[in-house]
Amino acid sequence: MATIPWLVDVLRAAGVQVVVEGDWLNRMRPGSFDPIGVLWHHTAATSSASNPHPALGICINGRSDLPGPLCQALVDYNGVFHVISAGRCNHAGTSGGSGPIPAGDGNTLMIGWEIDYNGVNQEMTAAQYNASLAATAAVLTRLGRDSSYARGHRETSTSGKIDPSFIDLNVMRADVAARMSGGGNPPAWSSIVDNTTAGRFTASANWGVSTYSGQRYGADYRYAEPVAASDVAWYRFNVPATANYRVDAWWPATSGYNGATPYVVSTTTGNRTIIVDQRATGGQWRSLGTFTLPAGDANRVGVSRWSSATGLIVADAVRLTRV
Ligand SMILES: [Zn+2]
Repeated sequence: MATIPWLVDVLRAAGVQVVVEGDWLNRMRPGSFDPIGVLWHHTAATSSASNPHPALGICINGRSDLPGPLCQALVDYNGVFHVISAGRCNHAGTSGGSGPIPAGDGNTLMIGWEIDYNGVNQEMTAAQYNASLAATAAVLTRLGRDSSYARGHRETSTSGKIDPSFIDLNVMRADVAARMSGGGNPPAWSSIVDNTTAGRFTASANWGVSTYSGQRYGADYRYAEPVAASDVAWYRFNVPATANYRVDAWWPATSGYNGATPYVVSTTTGNRTIIVDQRATGGQWRSLGTFTLPAGDANRVGVSRWSSATGLIVADAVRLTRV
């Protein structure tokens, strides 16, 4: 049985932050291992800055129904690779075949990254995305394979797996290809739309104008009572290319504002809703996550009034940054 004892060195040489988890060289499942590709997953656990790798213990030790290790590396909230195993792991199950990856024993065919995010109402972080790209490009280069040998579990699964959620896998592979061809980072692009940006912000007359909070972005901001109706305030962006973008929002916070404000992001795979607490963390850019957005000039991010919480909903500024 083969192993990949080069994994840590290859990741570090690619600039990926690595934490070695114990006896990774000898922690593995029995059976064959002859990888030709990389498989991306999400863990379904909710990670955060204060709890960056909630699924690490399970990925090392396994579950009652599936013995560990469950992946070669876990990618934490901050994009740090926790290297768990140099050998075969229980991550892929049976491959139904996807791209150049044949049908067969997925745990032989592929090296797995478990990216630690929940995939239901939490996106991959920008740090996770960038580290996963760098690691995948480096490992595929080491294996002598092109970017088509990176797959998502939902593409190879024969049992209906949905991971990794939200990310457009063709875009992610294209970004891996760019790294492998020496293209490095995608072209830098960032754009801010404030509620006063001409032609780029629309809201109904139900949204008042306020200068009350000193935490506002720019001259003023808009506010409205929560109602059981959408009445979205929209931010329009001219997105330069179908690609992945980090979406940040800025709101002024006071204890009287809304504790469960829905932001809507219009992605290539439909609208995603992210709930934020506008009673806190105001006056700064706050990340809503990383999303695949289609190219073109359109309403891409909105603030909805449809909140179950009390307190005024505010719409101030939104920023997109290509990652
Ligand atoms: Zn998976």
